[in-house]
Parts: sequence; C-alpha cells; structure tokens
Amino acid sequence: MVRIGIAGAAGRMGSRITALSKEYENIQLTGAFDRKGHQDTGKDIGALVGIGECGVQLSDSLESIIDNIDVVISFTTIEASLEHVRLASSKGKAVVLGTTGFGKGHIQEITGLAKKIPCMMASNMSMGVNLLLKVLQDIARVLGEGYDIEIIEAHHRMKKDAPSGTALKMAQVIADALDRNLDEVAVYARKGIIGERKAKEIGIQAIRAGDIVGEHTVMFGGLGERIEVTHKVSSRDTFARGALRAALWVLGKSAGLYDMQDVLGLK
Ligand code: NAD
Repeated sequence: MVRIGIAGAAGRMGSRITALSKEYENIQLTGAFDRKGHQDTGKDIGALVGIGECGVQLSDSLESIIDNIDVVISFTTIEASLEHVRLASSKGKAVVLGTTGFGKGHIQEITGLAKKIPCMMASNMSMGVNLLLKVLQDIARVLGEGYDIEIIEAHHRMKKDAPSGTALKMAQVIADALDRNLDEVAVYARKGIIGERKAKEIGIQAIRAGDIVGEHTVMFGGLGERIEVTHKVSSRDTFARGALRAALWVLGKSAGLYDMQDVLGLK
C-alpha cells in the first residue's frame, strides 16, 4: 500500500488526482493540503472533490502531513513545488512532480535534492504524449535535415506558463535527435520583416483560449510534403491517472531524478 499526500489538492489537477485515488486499491490517500489561507482549509477533501467524505481534512502545509505519507504529489506552482521537494528530500519521502515552467536553475536544484530521494518529474504525465516523444525522436532522426520543424501548442486561458512544458520537451527531444542546441535554434514568436526562415530553426508557438485542456502539433515541413503529428487531451484525468501510476512506481526506487518515460518503460 502506498500512502499519498496531495499538494494543491483544491486545484484543477490536485482535485482530480484526489478524486481518482479512490479507484486504486493499492493507494491510500493519507494527506491533502493547499496553500496557507485557502478558504477550504479544514474541510473534508473527499467532500470537496465530489467523492463523498473520506476522513482526510484539507490541511495548509506539507509539514503537517509529511510523517503520514510515503509519496507527495505536487501539481502547484514553481515556488511551492520547490518547497515541497526540499522538505520531502530532508524527510526521505518520494516525490511525483507535475508542475511546469521550471527554469534551468530550478531543475539543477531539484536534481541535487533528488540525490537523496526518488523523484519523478514530468511536464506531461499522459501515456500518449510520452509515446509521442519517442516517435518524434525517430521521425527527426529519419528525416534529418531539410524539414522545417514547428511546434504549436494550445491551452486554456488560465495557464500561467508559456510555451507549455510539453512543447519545450518535444522541442528538446527533437533538437537532441538532430544534434542542435535548442537555446540557439528555438524561435518563440515571429512578427514584422523577419527574413527567410533559417534551416535549423525550431519554431514553438503558444495559443491560449477558453478551456482547452492541452493540444500539441509538431509539423515537419518539407518541399512537396509535410508530416503533422497531433496529440489532444480532452480530460485532465489522463494526467491524474499518470500521476497516480507514477506514485505507485516511484516508491521504493533508488534515489534519483526520473521521468514518465521511466515509469512507462519507454526507455
Ligand atoms: P491550479 O491553479 O488549478 O492548481 C494549483 C493549486 O496549487 C491551487 O489550488 C493553489 O492554491 C495550490 N497551491 C499554491 N501554492 C501552494 C502551496 N504553497 N502549497 C500547496 N498548494 C499550493 O493549477 P493546475 O491547472 O492544477 O496546474 C498546476 C500545475 O500543474 C501547473 O504548473 C500546470 O502547468 C501543471 N500541469 C501539469 C500536468 C502534467 O501532466 N505534468 C498536467 C496539467 C497541469
């Protein structure tokens, strides 16, 4: 039995992970918390997420639940997630980290903290996207040079970071496959007299509208043909189930930083 604690349990992702945890007989929800001052602090989290009372109250800190859990699942904010990993690392607890938008310095810190604990970090926990990352690597390698690569992502209006962590991961995988430095070839927006497209550019464009859960299209545009690969998510439950699967997988692993490809055995 894996005892999980959910960070940001009142949020869009946290509430779905909390609700779906009930479906897993080898997962026990033993803690749930959100930010300090949250209006629902102290209320039963099961009732809050629509699965009926479960006897676990929404707390306002990881400190208050950490001794009672094996794995903390955090889909929150960058600063909050870093705090969660720091505390989990000092207490020897495993982490599933779904928050997106980390910079290089943050990832460096997380990598350091994961020397003491198993930590699974992924900007997208869906099976489909992780499979696609593998396929994109193959397409890029086979096509090689001569195809223009453009990534277009679309998300809901509330999303805070852009481009999405998934679009960046796709760009990174393709850049690695083609031996390009992403920092040098990424182009995030175009406007005005920009001249001809450079051959090695990897374009990444972000659309924000309404309640789109998450869509990514990668285009390989050649002369006379183009390949487009598209992934669309219609429900956050896809990510939530991935996070719960990761929580079952990560407990008992040796210390280190893992990703969803490890969880799904795609490496
Ligand atoms: P959200 O705003 O609905 O939820 C975030 C929750 O975290 C809120 O309830 C907020 O109050 C809470 N929070 C803030 N500070 C906190 C703290 N210090 N301690 C505990 N809780 C705190 O956002 P969301 O749509 O659920 O997304 C959260 C993150 O997950 C974003 O970075 C998003 O991009 C990412 N995300 C990742 C995946 C994936 O598969 N990895 C999928 C969807 C979203």
